[in-house]
Amino acid sequence: MTAIVSTRDLRKSYGVGTPVETEVLHGIDMELAEGEFCALIGPSGSGKSTLLNLIGLLERPTSGTLDIAGEPTVHLDEQGLTRLRGRHIGFVFQFHHLLPAFTALENVMMPSIIEQGIASEEAERIARDLLGRVGLSGHEHKKANQISGGQQQRVAIARALSLSPRLILADEPTGNLDTHTADDIFALLREFNRERGSACLIVTHDPRLAARCDRQIELIDGLIARPDRL
Ligand code: ADP
Ligand code: MG
Repeated sequence: MTAIVSTRDLRKSYGVGTPVETEVLHGIDMELAEGEFCALIGPSGSGKSTLLNLIGLLERPTSGTLDIAGEPTVHLDEQGLTRLRGRHIGFVFQFHHLLPAFTALENVMMPSIIEQGIASEEAERIARDLLGRVGLSGHEHKKANQISGGQQQRVAIARALSLSPRLILADEPTGNLDTHTADDIFALLREFNRERGSACLIVTHDPRLAARCDRQIELIDGLIARPDRL
């Protein structure tokens, strides 16, 4: 098995060196295989978002190891983390974090513009194609704040996929959507997972959706609750 994510004794404390220093992840050992579609579940406050932010290289662990696509990350500098993030990882958050003043098309092109420094014709072609795939043909030039919540989340998924990441991290991507729209969004992630082999790690509160994943990892109080398959 090739692992896209591999952690050993991964720990995270907040407020290090202050009187309120608190460890919120107490030694996480987990692996996510290439192409795996996995749910991350657990009670509120159990550390799901913290773990996702560590794996996404948005925050640094306090100790332990974290390899992404076989590359050790804990000693990388900011530039190295940014490079690895850009190359391998797409994010979908509960609140989509689209740029409201920009169009759907511009939002989907944004990762590529940031990576390449220009809006290339190729990036636009890919972005248009992805918007079509998420059912938003004809909405390319609407501003992100002029479309519905479900449509915004579709744009966010298209944006996450724009650089063809090997790993998609989704933090409650359907958390603020009605059941029907949530099912649609989930189905889209599954479709891209099957088609492109992007591994997905999806935080969800919805047991129905978690049950439709290949595997579930459960966090309780900063620890993995069930022995994780390695
Ligand atoms: P979940 O996503 O499972 O609800 P989180 O990862 O957001 O849990 O939070 C885990 C614990 O870490 C909680 O007790 C939360 O209060 C704490 N926490 C999260 N982020 C911070 C932060 N930036 N500073 C201090 N404590 C934090
Ligand atoms: Mg959370």
